[in-house]
Amino acid sequence: MRENIAEFGQLHPEINGFSVSIGLSVYPEDAIDSQSLVLHADAALHKAKVDSYHEGICFYSEEMESKSLSRRAHYAQIKNAISHQRVIALYQPMVNPFTGDVEAVEALMRIRDEAGNTIPPVEFISLAEETRLIIPLGEQMIHLALAQLKEWHENELSIRLCLNISPVQFLDPHFVPFLLSAIEHYGVKPSMIELEVTESLMLQNLQQIIRDMMQFRQLGISISIDDFGTGYSCLSYLKELPVDVLKIDKAFINQISTENPDEALVQTIAQLAIGMSLQSVAEGVESRFQAQRLKDIGVSLLQGYYFSRPVPAKDIQKNYPL
Ligand code: C2E
Ligand code: CA
Ligand code: CA
Repeated sequence: MRENIAEFGQLHPEINGFSVSIGLSVYPEDAIDSQSLVLHADAALHKAKVDSYHEGICFYSEEMESKSLSRRAHYAQIKNAISHQRVIALYQPMVNPFTGDVEAVEALMRIRDEAGNTIPPVEFISLAEETRLIIPLGEQMIHLALAQLKEWHENELSIRLCLNISPVQFLDPHFVPFLLSAIEHYGVKPSMIELEVTESLMLQNLQQIIRDMMQFRQLGISISIDDFGTGYSCLSYLKELPVDVLKIDKAFINQISTENPDEALVQTIAQLAIGMSLQSVAEGVESRFQAQRLKDIGVSLLQGYYFSRPVPAKDIQKNYPL
């Protein structure tokens, strides 16, 4: 039986140590040539990793075929976008509710395919993270965004730039030197740069993360916790890490509606930020009602379709009155 099975296995870190995932395909049922068997085993391995139902071990099935083909197509699309520099940066304003001034923008990535279609992050970020292609993608994005920041400064526009950094990218040993050399290359002020990281990052090597964040903080770069409240529920990391901003997830902002307003969580997070002398940002603000309530609650900056969708840099205005 053993000779008939192509195996693909991978060790991957879990919260408490390591676990093993195994993908299997069987000769001759699944394929008759070794290359196809290995590709099928790889598809099964992917399923074993992402689907806890399989408890780390999964046999290939035909239904995986189409998924595996679409993964391959997406992978090729990402590789292509990297090699042809078809990464695009859009920007979404973050507005001070009292003045209407844009204090910061979030840079949001898109890629373009060969036909010129724009592909949104939901279609490529998780695969890019899994395959580590997020590193070259993220590097192109940082180049684009820092060049834009430089241009704004040359035009005397004082806007802080927020960059989304995936845990894969943040934990890569080249990330810190890469970012520092890019900052030097574009001659931008580190105090105008903010890194948005998610709580899932804190589940990794916390000592290394603290060291890197301290290094960024010493230069004046700020750190924002994205999607705050949706992930890790242990808040003690907030005291250990040099965090500057809590970004309240849009799922909580959604609950502020005229019909059935539920503001408890937003109020709690905004109070937590005030109590810890942090800034708060509300994302996914879609209505005037929400904007007004968030202003009254004391949220520092507002971001969402109510003010603007993510747009090319030239379409960012200086002011978006509430
Ligand atoms: P995110 O960091 O939570 O970004 C906010 C997402 O919410 C963006 O989606 C934005 O377009 C969308 N959004 C903003 N305002 C509203 C609103 O009022 N209503 C609704 N329904 N949505 C709103 P987008 O641009 O599709 O990005 C999705 C995710 O992809 C981001 O979520 C982020 O996790 C990831 N991403 C985007 N750009 C980058 C990047 O450069 N690097 C990395 N690592 N991840 C990125
Ligand atoms: Ca973000
Ligand atoms: Ca977010």
